[in-house]
Amino acid sequence: MARTRLPLIAGNWKMNGLTADALALAKAVAAGVKQGGWTDREVLICPPVTLLMAIAEAVKGSGLLVGGQDCHVKASGACTGDVSAEMLKDVGASHVIVGHSERRTDCGETDAVVRDKAEAAWRAGLLPIVCIGETLAEREAGKAFDVLETQLKGSVPVGATAATLVVAYEPVWAIGTGKTPTTPDVAAAHAHIRKVLGGLVPGAAGVRLLYGGSVKGSNAAELLAAGDVDGALVGGAALKADEFLAIAKAV
Ligand code: PEP
Repeated sequence: MARTRLPLIAGNWKMNGLTADALALAKAVAAGVKQGGWTDREVLICPPVTLLMAIAEAVKGSGLLVGGQDCHVKASGACTGDVSAEMLKDVGASHVIVGHSERRTDCGETDAVVRDKAEAAWRAGLLPIVCIGETLAEREAGKAFDVLETQLKGSVPVGATAATLVVAYEPVWAIGTGKTPTTPDVAAAHAHIRKVLGGLVPGAAGVRLLYGGSVKGSNAAELLAAGDVDGALVGGAALKADEFLAIAKAV
């Protein structure tokens, strides 16, 4: 059956990459995307902010998209060390990840902060990828779906539409661990997310839902074929061009 939502494969490089190696990686991914000539999927990399400008310039014309990993809620001001959505846009970003579990845990970001960051992304003309996901303890306590619902209701801004929102389901226990939920579990979580979105977003059926957590070339086809999965948010495997391109090809 043909897909109705355009798949998105997004790579989150996290705090990895110095100029020479990062540029080589970005160029290798860009070459693969250009060769793929895909119009039926989007491929995005989110490098560290220090490299965004150089990478955006280096991959121009390839079809590879470039995004940020986080943004501040304000456009500018006395916020030492922070980067605004406008600054990301200014150097070539089209997307920004907000609410990644590492920021929720390490930086104490609440759902309300994540929602404000998604709104900041809109203000700057960026497409936010809002991350949600349960911890292992929450899953084992049978609370995963409640957690997803609470996070969605708190993190998705009023006024979101299918064109202005991407949601990434990333079970915290699957990030960087090599563990993944079963495909029926992924499909069930995504169906639940879409149901909750139905009460929040007009045209929720069109919102793209990415799965994230230990996606690699060898499991991508299976995970991407799960119901309601419209792409992947990839961490570790995004740091190797051939692995990341294998995931993009698996759509
Ligand atoms: C992530 O950090 O968003 C992620 C999914 O990481 P990994 O693919 O390494 O599990």
